Amino acid sequence: MATSYDAIVIGARCAGSPTAMLLARKGYRVLLLDRASFPSDTMSTHVVHPLAAASLKRWGVLDRLLATGCPPIDTYTFDFGPFTLAGAPGTAQSPVAYCPRRTILDNLLLEAAAEAGAEVRESFVVDKISMEDGRVTGIEGHSKHGDAIRERGGVIIGADGRNSVVAEAVQPEKYNERPPLLAPYYSYWSGLPTNGRFENYIRPNRGFAVAPTHDGLTMIVGGWPYAEFSANKQDLEGNYLRLFELAPEFAQRLRGATRESRLVGAPTPNFFRKPYGPGWVLVGDAGYLKDPITAQGIQDAFRDAEACARAVDETLTGVQTFDAAMEAYRQARDAGSVAMYDLTCQLASMAPPPPEMQQLFAAMAGNQKAMNGFAQMNAGTISPADFLSPQNVGAILGESGAPTSGPSQG
Ligand SMILES: Cc1cc2nc3c(=O)[nH]c(=O)nc-3n(C[C@H](O)[C@H](O)[C@H](O)COP(=O)(O)OP(=O)(O)OC[C@H]3O[C@@H](n4cnc5c(N)ncnc54)[C@H](O)[C@@H]3O)c2cc1C
Repeated sequence: MATSYDAIVIGARCAGSPTAMLLARKGYRVLLLDRASFPSDTMSTHVVHPLAAASLKRWGVLDRLLATGCPPIDTYTFDFGPFTLAGAPGTAQSPVAYCPRRTILDNLLLEAAAEAGAEVRESFVVDKISMEDGRVTGIEGHSKHGDAIRERGGVIIGADGRNSVVAEAVQPEKYNERPPLLAPYYSYWSGLPTNGRFENYIRPNRGFAVAPTHDGLTMIVGGWPYAEFSANKQDLEGNYLRLFELAPEFAQRLRGATRESRLVGAPTPNFFRKPYGPGWVLVGDAGYLKDPITAQGIQDAFRDAEACARAVDETLTGVQTFDAAMEAYRQARDAGSVAMYDLTCQLASMAPPPPEMQQLFAAMAGNQKAMNGFAQMNAGTISPADFLSPQNVGAILGESGAPTSGPSQG
């Protein structure tokens, strides 16, 4: 049987739709499948840091997102109790973040893939990955009408999230694994303006974050260490609401707000998977999963969609062998992720910061350049390895007697 598609992409959210879109724009025959129908929600908060917004702009999707009334976020704040750091998270080219509902963001991405020429099938479940002589060659699945369908593809791309059916079939090497560290839960509130701020509240063994989203709503996500996951499940509501009492001024603001949705959330394990092998590739959470505390998943999925599509293109055009192109994709992903992965796991543990880190936080208060750098590090705009380098830390500590200035508005 002839190969029907150059690429079959399983999963049509933040990793899959951009991968399919970019390949279709290159003229490849792409099939994009998802068991979900769109627009639909998924379990995820949705802070889209400035570099992810830059990806949307490059792809021509940002204007469409702005047309949905998604409010911009120009300042990230970090309230440690005794002091608050407030900085601008982005770059001159991409200064602001957003917090779009996944119902809206994912649908815009899917539409962009379809417009680029990808054949989209929603409500299509991939049940099985087809293999011949140790090589992945296609998929078997069914539509919502129950018809069993087989398709063949030159490369099968698993953008199918943490429980990837592709990874399940090919059992790739897993590395740098860490257990779940945090139990996060979120809900939406009305009547809680944040004035363009993504607010983070850090307390011993507790934390929560607040961001403005569509329809005048504000998302509040909060959590506690995974060690308390089972015990606190008995009273999720009470434990969630008690978080806010740790920040009395915020609790006072919340009294004027209205809860508009139920509580949603779950712990996340942390791992890298080797993202390629004969006939298959992984992108997004399927290949690299981490705790959401630093909100990097969407940004990483966008970054890796571009790199993955480039690698597939190089393979199909014969610029590189499949293994060489994919190994370069893996190395770029891992090198670009590891410092943030370590920071993410450290923050997700909710362990109190070591004394030298606490000294650094205090030294940054009022130093706008340092606070912007801190916001940029948390946004993934600059690497934690650079921000926390001995030179930069030394410079911040050296300047800590400098006069203070007001928080940035971006
Ligand atoms: C509580 C929580 C909060 C988070 N907050 C943030 C945040 O603020 N910012 C951020 O950047 N990231 C956040 N993340 C992470 C973010 O949600 C993920 O990194 C992102 O969704 C990954 O996108 P993806 O496309 O790789 O996978 P997914 O979004 O999981 O999409 C996978 C798709 O594959 C489809 N699929 C799976 N299996 C099959 C199959 N067999 N057949 C057909 N279709 C299939 C699914 O239906 C799904 O639509 C959060 C995650 C959690 C859990």
